[in-house]
Amino acid sequence: MSTQASAERADLAVVIGLEVHVQLETDTKIFCGCSTTAKEDEAPNSRTCPVCLGLPGALPAVNEAAVEAAVRVGKALDAEIAPETRFHRKNYFYPDLPKNFQISQYDAPICRDGSIEVSVEGERREVVIRRAHLEEDPGSIVHAGGSIDTADYTLVDYNRAGTPLMEIVTEPDFRSPDETRAFLAKLEEVLEYLSIFDGGRDGSLRIDANVSLVPATEVADDGTIDKETLAAANRTEVKNISSHKGAEKALAYEVTRQRNAIKRGRAIDQETRHWDESRGITVSMRAKEEEKDYRYFDEADIPPLQVADWRERLSIPELPDARRERFREEYGLDNEAAAKLTSTKQVADFYEDVAGEFDPGLAATWVADVLLGELNYRDMGVADVADRLGEVVTLIRLVDKEEITRKNAEEQVLRSMLDEGVDPETVIEREGLGTADEDEVVVAVREAIDANPGAVADYHDGEDGALNYLVGQVMGATGGTADPGTVNERLRATLAEANEG
Ligand code: ADP
Ligand code: ZN
Ligand code: MG
Repeated sequence: MSTQASAERADLAVVIGLEVHVQLETDTKIFCGCSTTAKEDEAPNSRTCPVCLGLPGALPAVNEAAVEAAVRVGKALDAEIAPETRFHRKNYFYPDLPKNFQISQYDAPICRDGSIEVSVEGERREVVIRRAHLEEDPGSIVHAGGSIDTADYTLVDYNRAGTPLMEIVTEPDFRSPDETRAFLAKLEEVLEYLSIFDGGRDGSLRIDANVSLVPATEVADDGTIDKETLAAANRTEVKNISSHKGAEKALAYEVTRQRNAIKRGRAIDQETRHWDESRGITVSMRAKEEEKDYRYFDEADIPPLQVADWRERLSIPELPDARRERFREEYGLDNEAAAKLTSTKQVADFYEDVAGEFDPGLAATWVADVLLGELNYRDMGVADVADRLGEVVTLIRLVDKEEITRKNAEEQVLRSMLDEGVDPETVIEREGLGTADEDEVVVAVREAIDANPGAVADYHDGEDGALNYLVGQVMGATGGTADPGTVNERLRATLAEANEG
């Protein structure tokens, strides 16, 4: 980079704030009894009723499970839970919104003032959560035969309409696109631990990112920027981001676009821009809408909810950071192993089951390296074998009792278990992988010594490789089912006896 370019970069500081929409995993929709779970090959508009279709006269009823999930998210974000929370109508027209308003929350959101700690390149940063509120997801729109401006016609599917959403709004606390990526990863991890979020579900996380550039001189030493400066900065809001990577890319593009515009002496328009994932660019959609455009007013069909004691009543599990720390202390794991073993709640729970039965270090190797490694290689996760974890424990137990060698367990049994869906005993039986018994080893050792007088002589002459060669012969003769350590010992003992005799 030229000195001039780096000076220009240093002149402007990046400011980013996120609005993250999270689909909450409940059985039914937020204001009606329709299922939230897509059946395979379901017909469009098949999971609908008068409420989620917005038919005249249909009345919403709040799904308690969605409110509980929101309180749990609030607790996990260390936020205040409003003693009384209310719903509002956010008015706008769009075909995916049949009522012409979205039931959302305006000035009485369920959660306020939370925070999440993220670490970026080893540095810890706190991101403040301004608010988090409940709302309903609109339906989904399909532009048949192309994009919005080239399609012949457009279809609307209301199966998604009414899925509970939580909108989590951060303060403009991010100073670079990669910080947003770290934040989103952390947020997803926390949500997953609460068992109210499925990251694998299409559209489960949707992000609007607000970006502006301010003079670097406005940034205080502790990284803060005063409110007036933030309010005065012209910013754009980038919509249609659906992944961590997408957020980082869209923001990197947008930062560069704004820098270039400023460099050419052009002002940044306050506008809403669309992230075009396939082209890797943001395009202008419309002038930024303002709060007053939505004519928010009370949702008169839903009474205020009194949730003052819900924070106490509802529990949340130990969260990833705390669990990671405990794994390091309680099981003596290094950072890398602790991080891997707490990546999802399911992995962490499984690890603790295994560590309760075997040595924690051995358990860590089995779960973090062997199992996760094999799963990863097959593009699978622990969730895919959730009902077979008992079989994995059985396999570890067989190794522990020396009924099968560790090598065979890892390289043959586990792989067959994953590839063919069979249990460990079946593989061991079928492939004859049970550990060679004592007698078998004794015979094989005897034979190896008798058949290889040269190697025996070399061994007695102190040649290192000779013993390994003999071990290899015995392993070969037992089809790899003998334990190499035992073979080694047995060979040394027999060779010593022979020498004395
Ligand atoms: P709006 O009135 O447009 O909804 P808000 O104050 O509610 O504006 O903020 C919406 C989002 O914009 C929040 O995530 C906030 O962090 C972010 N934001 C506010 N000011 C800035 C700024 N100067 N640069 C980038 N993002 C900002
Ligand atoms: Zn419905
Ligand atoms: Mg806003």
